[in-house]
Amino acid sequence: MTASVGSPKNKGRIVIVSGPSGVGKGTVLKELLARNPRIFPSVSATTRSPREGEKEGINYYFLSKGEFEAKIARGEMLEYASYSGNYYGTPADKVQEKLDLGIDVLLEIEVQGAKKVMDARKDVISIFLLPPSREELERRLVGRGTEDAETIRRRLEASGYEMGMAGLYQHQVVNHTVEQAAEEIEKILHAGCGQMD
Ligand code: 5GP
Repeated sequence: MTASVGSPKNKGRIVIVSGPSGVGKGTVLKELLARNPRIFPSVSATTRSPREGEKEGINYYFLSKGEFEAKIARGEMLEYASYSGNYYGTPADKVQEKLDLGIDVLLEIEVQGAKKVMDARKDVISIFLLPPSREELERRLVGRGTEDAETIRRRLEASGYEMGMAGLYQHQVVNHTVEQAAEEIEKILHAGCGQMD
């Protein structure tokens, strides 16, 4: 049942999903979006290099540091943060456009940026995705093989701080399996219907 997510009678909601690197956000959210095609996934901008297979405008807008800083200066970012040596940010224009159409917008962002959005706006549903254990997180991060050893080390280091922030979010979901986690998020979104202004 997807009809009530992002009802056109109301404004859409900003759905923030955060979680440490390697927790499986990408896979879980892909499943969520497949089940709920009316949710609009915001495409972030970043200064990090594309990973193999990542495409401009699909996974990210890949910008130089100068380009990113120019966007900040022009006030074009809803939020941004520095993470693991790079900038990441949400371009504001598309987000507002979709919300005004009654469409929920999904932001898969890290905790500093998430906190800024949560502090600034009321139309937010916030969800933190947790690994079943710290060992499992490390296993997943190493296992996906997309980062070098130094990047993995930095990301694991960041994960302690990130998981300490889980309590700031309205909901915490443990990613035991992709289906279970996507289903729990879906339930949260449906339960949230009708609570907005
Ligand atoms: P990755 O390099 O693995 O794609 O992303 C690193 C971290 O940046 C992840 O925690 C991801 O959620 C976060 N991230 C991606 N896009 C944004 C964004 O637009 N803003 C913020 N604040 N974080 C983001």
